[in-house]
Amino acid sequence: MDITDNDMRLINSYSSAKLTAEDVYAFSVTLCDNETDRDGDRFTAEALAGLAELYKGVSGIFDHDPRSGNQKCRVYDTRVETVPGRTNSAGEPYARLRAKCYTLRTPENEQLIREIEGGIKKEVSVCCAMGRSVCSVCGADLGSGGCRHIPGVEYDGEVCARVLSEPTDAYEWSFVAVPAQKAAGVTKSAGAVNAPDGCAERLKTAAADGERYRKRLAKELCALAAAALPSVPVKTVARIADRLSCSEIEELTEAFSKYATGAPQTAAGNVSGDDRDYLI
Ligand SMILES: [Zn+2]
Repeated sequence: MDITDNDMRLINSYSSAKLTAEDVYAFSVTLCDNETDRDGDRFTAEALAGLAELYKGVSGIFDHDPRSGNQKCRVYDTRVETVPGRTNSAGEPYARLRAKCYTLRTPENEQLIREIEGGIKKEVSVCCAMGRSVCSVCGADLGSGGCRHIPGVEYDGEVCARVLSEPTDAYEWSFVAVPAQKAAGVTKSAGAVNAPDGCAERLKTAAADGERYRKRLAKELCALAAAALPSVPVKTVARIADRLSCSEIEELTEAFSKYATGAPQTAAGNVSGDDRDYLI
């Protein structure tokens, strides 16, 4: 990467000794983007703009190990970039946070510089703190609870994600072997859990199975409610059921089944329009 006078002015704003272009090696990395990462988290475009400011001057390390000897590079400039015509999985314009970084051309950094130039060191991951996290399915603020959705699990055709905004701190960025994000990588200080290999996948499968079971229970409840309380729109019952746990739906199903005298399908014959969709 060519080093301009403006690059040197920015680099020198972070160094105590006056450096020349011969003293430094400069390179660019994608710190993070607004695609959903392997943890089921996604930054908003506004969050990337906030992180762009917070990441100026922040050190790069290896594998998130913060020992001071591990600090080899520093971000000296950032920008949020969009790619014309490209959208993320949520259908929003794709955006990524690009950072210009420098390291010193010292004998001990020669190996690192060679690895960056050779494409060996290219995956990076950020470690930051986010002020707000919202469920992409129901919009609930995850700081205040009240959401039953699990990131990575599909609900009515939409894969749930935690949408992160309002960045409050940028601690470091790291070269890593497997970043959380597909394009870059991200480690969040809030909500990140280190699970053994395969554990997260098994949890996701179990959650998806649980969700399918919950839907079946909800349909059964709708049918029974239609039989027991024909004046209550089935849609209303379905919306209520959507907020309940499996055991709560089972309790209501048991209660309604005492009222329903005939088979639910008989009563369902009186139900018209969209409400039929909720019945079994
Ligand atoms: Zn939710």
